[in-house]
Amino acid sequence: MSSKTSDQRPDTLLVTAGRHPHENHGFVNPPVIHASTVLFETVDAMTSKGARYTYGRRGTPTSEALEEALDALEGSAGSVLAPSGLGAISIALLSCLSAGDHLLVTDSVYQPTRHLCDTVLSRLGIETSYFDPLIGADIGSVMRGKTRAVFVEAPGSQTFEMQDVPAITAAAKARGATVLMDNTWATPLFFKPLAHGVDLSIQAGTKYIVGHSDVMLGTVSASEGAWKALKATHGAMGQAVGPDDIYLALRGLRTMGVRLARHQESALKVARWLEGRPEVARVLYPALESDPGHALWRRDFSGASGLLGVVLHDVAMERVKAMLDGLALFGLGYSWGGFESLAIHADPRGYRTATTWQAEGPLVRFHIGLEDVEDLLADLAAGFDRLAG
Ligand SMILES: *Cc1c(COP(=O)(O)O)cnc(C)c1O
Repeated sequence: MSSKTSDQRPDTLLVTAGRHPHENHGFVNPPVIHASTVLFETVDAMTSKGARYTYGRRGTPTSEALEEALDALEGSAGSVLAPSGLGAISIALLSCLSAGDHLLVTDSVYQPTRHLCDTVLSRLGIETSYFDPLIGADIGSVMRGKTRAVFVEAPGSQTFEMQDVPAITAAAKARGATVLMDNTWATPLFFKPLAHGVDLSIQAGTKYIVGHSDVMLGTVSASEGAWKALKATHGAMGQAVGPDDIYLALRGLRTMGVRLARHQESALKVARWLEGRPEVARVLYPALESDPGHALWRRDFSGASGLLGVVLHDVAMERVKAMLDGLALFGLGYSWGGFESLAIHADPRGYRTATTWQAEGPLVRFHIGLEDVEDLLADLAAGFDRLAG
């Protein structure tokens, strides 16, 4: 089997990348290497800098298999693994920021990322300010002399605003800032951050890569220019992921294409159905023609995943609870990206600082899983009956 992957299409890469069967006795999947100590034959071998493996924390054939697959998918110079998506975000930010620097973060960012910036980064002397996710090329107007990094996420967590990533990266890079993107929603299958000027592409692998709600994992993939600092920071901070978790992520990756295709098909169907419901004021899903971010999504993305939001018409919270509590197929749970459908009530008013979340009524977020979509629609229809009381 050839390991040349550069001319393969994404769905093929998902199958081939990071696998070298004939280096592993022909076995289809890479070995799971449980390791701390690596033995050397001689003192000279130990002290020479040439050894491929030196210590479990510094990389194993198992971690390299996933990193190699990520590089093939992301088009990156190198990738690192972290024990969670938030861990990956921390490493990426710390790789490009120092005391005295200023960081710009989209106001629609995943809330725990905001918490990291406002606590640990603030304590280390890194100042964060938040910007309107719709800012586009105007990002230049909020950049300062000390702005060293810009963090984007599209669509936004819970609120699903699309961002003009190429316009933001162009303006940020003209001023020498590193651009980081949380690309968990689209995965590199539906949006390629590095091809749009992003330096550090981050995924909560916990979601679609793993895909089965059973492992925490994060990934950061770097452009040529950002790779050295990312690798050095990752190594210095002792980040390592257990081999069994990496193996489950590799296993998840092999079917991510077919899973995402189904998530997309069902989510679009649910989104269109929700749009037609009288209880619904707006559906937040950029693949819908009615979504304000649809033009950007069409221009830059090649697909949509299974996560969407619904703004209801003004209704008492008690009714929303009755709707959600009684759902049979949609579990009430944080996270998403697994095979199962989920729902949460969200209130972005509580944490926004640069913009005000304005909505007609309560916001509910749904993850559309791999169940038969007709069963999901029936579950939601019964939910709307409970909403009405
Ligand atoms: C879940 C999530 C994360 C964090 O991932 P964990 O593995 O839970 O730490 C980061 N970004 C987004 C957009 C997420 O949805």
